[in-house]
Amino acid sequence: MPLEDPLTFVPVFQQYLWGGRRLETVLHKPLGDAAQYAESWEVVDHGDEQSVVATGPQAGRSLRELLASHAGDLLGEAHSQSLGDLSVARFPLLFKFLDAQRVLSLQVHPNDEQAARLNPPDLGKTEAWVIVAAEPGAVVYAGLKAGVTRERLRIAMESGAGAECMHCFEPAAGDCVFIPAGVPHALGAGLLVAEIQQASNTTFRLHDWNRLGADGQPRPLHLEQGLAVIDYEYGPVTPQMAQPTADAGRERLVACDKFVLDRLRAGVHAIGGGRFHILAAIEGAVELRWNGQEQILTTGQTTLVPASVEADLKVASGDAGVLDMYLPDK
Ligand SMILES: [Zn+2]
Repeated sequence: MPLEDPLTFVPVFQQYLWGGRRLETVLHKPLGDAAQYAESWEVVDHGDEQSVVATGPQAGRSLRELLASHAGDLLGEAHSQSLGDLSVARFPLLFKFLDAQRVLSLQVHPNDEQAARLNPPDLGKTEAWVIVAAEPGAVVYAGLKAGVTRERLRIAMESGAGAECMHCFEPAAGDCVFIPAGVPHALGAGLLVAEIQQASNTTFRLHDWNRLGADGQPRPLHLEQGLAVIDYEYGPVTPQMAQPTADAGRERLVACDKFVLDRLRAGVHAIGGGRFHILAAIEGAVELRWNGQEQILTTGQTTLVPASVEADLKVASGDAGVLDMYLPDK
């Protein structure tokens, strides 16, 4: 049976010490009783972490299973052919929401080439954030200050003062921050963020603000591995400038070789083109229509439209916002 409908998944929650409750209070996620929910993984196929379809004909199946049985429907011809061996292939993108009540560790991710040499091998990790909500004074650390060398960064990190080498700014809700592999970064306390990334989980922790983990011990750092993959030429990161496209109401936030990230405003937008789309409503309600059917997406809801489905997304009000994330042309 082909994939004929958008796929809605059960969110996978991650409880880390830096989380809070805003995944529920702002994004309406059905959290349990714990105090610290840090992440809601909305679309994931990474090892044991698997999105499972919540409703409809494919209910109960994992994203990995769907990829094995329906790679062409899911990804489209061009992208499914480049997957290679389906027994080891994975869905290439991971989308999540993060609630940072405390600052995250200063970290950096390897690129594809560097990650392929790890044991076990992984993908690299290029990521982009869209700020959903920011408390006053909340900051992001994004990129090195101009002129910071490997040696200067090492000395600063070893003396616990690594943050002094980082470019830092206060983002506003709606800002998009693009972090290619090799660019050190940290989300600060008070930010609620939507993140699209390569389906990788390889993080080199450079500095953890001299604090202790859940077990009372400092969490391990990976300073040497981190210093080795940092791009020292990249410099400070500033918010992306949204670019208009031929589709009025569709603005391009990021176009890189790993993913495209668009924001959809008022209008009716075609969702298809022979590739999959991850759609996430971050403000207000919007209407997705396909094959004579419809589904309302409200704030915090995510759906995956397979490449085999042609749909329209109707965004009624100028205040509403939807993120549309997909693979670039092969
Ligand atoms: Zn990261």
